[in-house]
Amino acid sequence: MTAQDLSDHFRRIDGAGYKAYKNIRGEYDFGDFTLFIDHVQGDPFAAPSRVRVIVPAEIARIPPELIENRNRSIGLASYIAGEFARSAGQVRERRGSGKSGLIEMDRPGQQVLERTALMLDGGEVEGRFVVGLPAAGRRVLGRQADQLFGSDLVEIVRRSLLFSSLDKGEAEKAAFTNEDGDTLRATLEDRGLVAFIADGSVLPRCSGVDDRPLTENVIPLRSPESLRISIDLPHAGRVTGLGIPVGVTLIVGGGFHGKSTLLNALENGVYNHRPGDGRERIATVDSAVKVRAEDGRSVAGVDISPFISALPADRDTESFTSENASGSTSQAANILEALEIGARVLLIDEDTAATNFMIRDCRMQQLIAKEKEPITPFIDKVGPLYEELGVSTILVAGGSGDYFDVAHTVIAMDEYEPQEVTDRAKRIAENHPTDRSAEGGAGFGSIPCRIPIAESIDPSRGRREESIKIRDRGTIQFGRETIDISAVSQIVDSSQTRAIGAAILLAREEFMDGHSTLSEILDRLYVLIAERGLSVLSRRPVGDHAMFRRYEMAAAINRLRSLRVRR
Ligand code: ADP
Ligand code: MG
Repeated sequence: MTAQDLSDHFRRIDGAGYKAYKNIRGEYDFGDFTLFIDHVQGDPFAAPSRVRVIVPAEIARIPPELIENRNRSIGLASYIAGEFARSAGQVRERRGSGKSGLIEMDRPGQQVLERTALMLDGGEVEGRFVVGLPAAGRRVLGRQADQLFGSDLVEIVRRSLLFSSLDKGEAEKAAFTNEDGDTLRATLEDRGLVAFIADGSVLPRCSGVDDRPLTENVIPLRSPESLRISIDLPHAGRVTGLGIPVGVTLIVGGGFHGKSTLLNALENGVYNHRPGDGRERIATVDSAVKVRAEDGRSVAGVDISPFISALPADRDTESFTSENASGSTSQAANILEALEIGARVLLIDEDTAATNFMIRDCRMQQLIAKEKEPITPFIDKVGPLYEELGVSTILVAGGSGDYFDVAHTVIAMDEYEPQEVTDRAKRIAENHPTDRSAEGGAGFGSIPCRIPIAESIDPSRGRREESIKIRDRGTIQFGRETIDISAVSQIVDSSQTRAIGAAILLAREEFMDGHSTLSEILDRLYVLIAERGLSVLSRRPVGDHAMFRRYEMAAAINRLRSLRVRR
């Protein structure tokens, strides 16, 4: 079928009932591109219709060097998706009631993530988006539909999916900045670093609900000389900045001096950022996981005994299960769950940590005997965590100097400027001993692997066998259950949340065989995604999935209240 056939059809059904749209599903040759109408909405108020266009390589004409490798190609795709979304905003028109006339692509945020909205495969460009089929009430507006596809869409494709109409400089910047980001992250381990923040980086954000860079009265990062490192990047050349070494790093400083902002930047450093974000040259190793207290969450069979033992009423802590974990038990579970699937760096902020989980000072040790305190505080485990397991910690602690003894590096934030104060902190620790006795025991303790039981993960709801909906970044409606992942801060985009929902379903069907551990299941899932692309998560072509990490996928599974596990 051709564009002309589609146009004729729209004119024929003008004025008919909305159902007349049903049979436009199919494939249409538009000359420069092929249009696929994959799903037609049932009525004007339902979720808009799902549509794709594919522009062949010889028409898109993307310079080969911009898609030479995945890093560049994902950066470029993110830029093109932004341009599509922007052009759609300019070109589309209201063409009837409700969502009539809408043309909308999942718009990338500040992070550069692989997305199903826009995929570049060997120079071919595939864009996936939604359209609102024009109607007046429930009557088809055929002429408007014809305009939407024949004029609006053609114009948007021309403006954003043909390389010749894009800004070449911006496109190159997007591709190369992304490659630099990946290179930076890949360099860290060899340099003995867990994170790097280039000088000049802008850390603070516009606001708590706006992830764009703060623009007024910003103090760009300036590294202290003693922690200054330079790294050569393929495009930016030599960059200098703050290198955070492996081990235990403490971030101290007065309130409002930028400690949490620094930690947030490190949390976000597991992702690349778009040019101009201010965080393009910040990288944290991929296995860094933010952990916090999260009272009220459910926990299924996690061994939290390294931190918690001898709970009242003889509660089992080697296989701890709770519908309503406390601050400290939830933080312990968050840590053990991250370690179980391979986290190598823990990021902790005092603002969101349980105090009794973090510290227990000398005076309290005197008053409450160890036998009466189920919690072994993190301060007694952070050392073994690194020495025995090679797991580093970056910890914001403005309120207690007890950690001076166990820290390898101490960074003080002073009016948003990091200073290295390790030696001073160590001297203070010597002159003012805490007199507390270590309570950590011989080593860290065990980190057993859990086997999730597929039957405990039920996606059905009412008559539907599978019902998974995303309400916002922090909420997955999975079958009859609501998974609350709002405390999982390294999920940065609701399209990641949506992809995680689909991935849980896929993992349950394909990999949860009653023998495989959660970690093995995740390994297999990522092999599958590497082989077949992110599109593999869904049977139907969808344009609103974004790449996510194993830690966040596990976090969602671990927060399913129905989850049951075996060892
Ligand atoms: P702390 O955790 O030390 O109490 P925050 O990191 O929460 O402090 O920062 C306090 C405020 O300062 C925030 O509003 C933040 O946006 C702002 N801020 C942080 N870093 C900078 C910076 N480099 N330049 C300007 N403002 C900053
Ligand atoms: Mg803070």
